[in-house]
Amino acid sequence: MFSTSEFDKNYEIIKENIAKSAEKAKKSEKDIILLAATKTQDIETINYAIKSGIEYIGENRVQEFTAKRDFYLPCHKHFIGHLQTNKVKDIIKDVELIHSVDSYHLACEISKQAKKIDVVANILLEVNIGGEESKSGLKKSEVNETLYKIAELPFISIKGLMAIPPVSETKDGNAPYFDQMYKLFIDNRCENKDNISMDILSMGMSDDYECAIEHGANLVRIGTSLFGKRIYK
Ligand SMILES: *Cc1c(COP(=O)(O)O)cnc(C)c1O
Repeated sequence: MFSTSEFDKNYEIIKENIAKSAEKAKKSEKDIILLAATKTQDIETINYAIKSGIEYIGENRVQEFTAKRDFYLPCHKHFIGHLQTNKVKDIIKDVELIHSVDSYHLACEISKQAKKIDVVANILLEVNIGGEESKSGLKKSEVNETLYKIAELPFISIKGLMAIPPVSETKDGNAPYFDQMYKLFIDNRCENKDNISMDILSMGMSDDYECAIEHGANLVRIGTSLFGKRIYK
């Protein structure tokens, strides 16, 4: 059962931790976006979070997002899960940022669907920074080339990079992956393409968001630490 007092407590702790980690990274807490990963949470829970101050939410399944999207209180809606090409049309008009673009092929479809409704789709490129077989995302070595290819597409704006590093046994275990992501993020900032802005580095989840911020993340995606353990129905 979702408990509002648990949520309130969790939210306060997370905000404090974000502020501390931001300071270590010589940033302000205002520089860090806290995105609530809302999969499996019902709409009352999510709207309680929004009323409490959560401004960004991320869903990771198309079907779940389309079922909930008309009921969220006003907030920034992001898509953070694996996206199949044939599902792009279902979410394109309602998401502000797609975190999980892992191929040129998917970017082409996003561009095509964005053109149809005359919007610019904001995307992040997902990088499989741990090189794990089981995970989607571009290989580290493919990022630069894919970025430039996607930048040629109309109706697309590349806002940055996203990663889900391997599960780590320790709080700081993913620091080397976060460092590699930060380097990719900086190295691929380019001045001469107006649809590449590289503003957002989306990495860090419940177990490692402090480490992620200390190593360059400016958007963290948090589910369990905020809402409690997920209950799959
Ligand atoms: C569920 C999810 C998260 C949050 O995970 P927690 O460990 O519950 O904080 C972050 N990113 C993505 C892509 C997710 O699907």
